[in-house]
Amino acid sequence: MSEVAEKQLTIHGGAPVVAGPLPRYVAMGTAEVEAAVAVVQSDVLSAFLGAPGDYFLGGPVVKEFEAAWRQRFNVRYAVSVNSATSGLSAAMGAIGIAPGDEVIVPPFTMSVTVVAPLIYGGIPVFADLDPETFCIDPDSVRRKITSRTKAIIAVNLFGHPAALTELKALADEHGLYLIEDNAQAPLAEENGRLCGTIGHIGIFSLNYHKHIHCGEGGVCVTADSQLAERLQLIRNHGENAVEAHGIEDITDMVGFNYRLTEVHAAIALEQLRHADEHVEVRVRIGTELTAAVGELEGIRTPVARPGCRHVYYMWPMRFDENVVGVSRDVFRQALAAEGVPTYAGYVRPL
Ligand SMILES: *Cc1c(COP(=O)(O)O)cnc(C)c1O
Repeated sequence: MSEVAEKQLTIHGGAPVVAGPLPRYVAMGTAEVEAAVAVVQSDVLSAFLGAPGDYFLGGPVVKEFEAAWRQRFNVRYAVSVNSATSGLSAAMGAIGIAPGDEVIVPPFTMSVTVVAPLIYGGIPVFADLDPETFCIDPDSVRRKITSRTKAIIAVNLFGHPAALTELKALADEHGLYLIEDNAQAPLAEENGRLCGTIGHIGIFSLNYHKHIHCGEGGVCVTADSQLAERLQLIRNHGENAVEAHGIEDITDMVGFNYRLTEVHAAIALEQLRHADEHVEVRVRIGTELTAAVGELEGIRTPVARPGCRHVYYMWPMRFDENVVGVSRDVFRQALAAEGVPTYAGYVRPL
């Protein structure tokens, strides 16, 4: 520690602490390559049909992937989609968001959390954050509930669970849906329960930046058969097939093409098989980094609420300019000079 303290900062002419670029984490292995090649060689790159019948729900690999997802996350239904953006939109349609309905959301998240309700004419209503976990604060949510509120979207931000059990109780008390944007927290847990499986629908992302990925992709999970069916219909141009379902109240459904291809499903399936290992790497690095940084004045390292498993999509730290005496930008420049890249985070609330 004393050596580091005496070191001349690189921005002041010293040698950088980290020499050379940090190695990139390689998530793809030969299993992914072989699975993708096999699908391409089969010539069936996507097997969805937008008409009633066997292929309305996708091809063999999509179905195998969804079955594996159900098993790993111990959920009744898993509906794959081509992104978490699609999944969040489909979730808004599945719960019946209509013009004027209010959906309570956090302002500190990736944009689609808040855009999704708008797609169906819903109104995002911002609630405040818990300053420790950066997730939506249940007390603030409670104060935002009106007679027009239909749902709450909780984001398990940076890999840490929102106060899901509390939010679910609040949702149930008021007859609202709790939707989990779980793009950043696969295999995170609150009191032994997996994030994404506590709300009425949980949405996962398989985009390139997430813990496990297939380029672009996503999964919605739910325990509710009606919600699952609506998600499946919205994913595949719903209106083409509702007659065959004999369900009248979904004949006005707006459907899209949110279908995952067989190639992406094949890669995602291999990623899922190793999901625990991929997640564990981030957890280990996050935990080690917290221990290594230790307690420094003006810097708040990540915390996990009691009973929570943080899976470190990010390693979110808070930097207090007033205590440290330099601006966040200067601090980041100094870190960058040492070979330590950082992001400023979601600097401007949505
Ligand atoms: C990545 C992300 C999304 C969107 O995921 P895509 O699969 O890229 O559409 C949504 N919400 C959050 C919180 C995310 O981090």
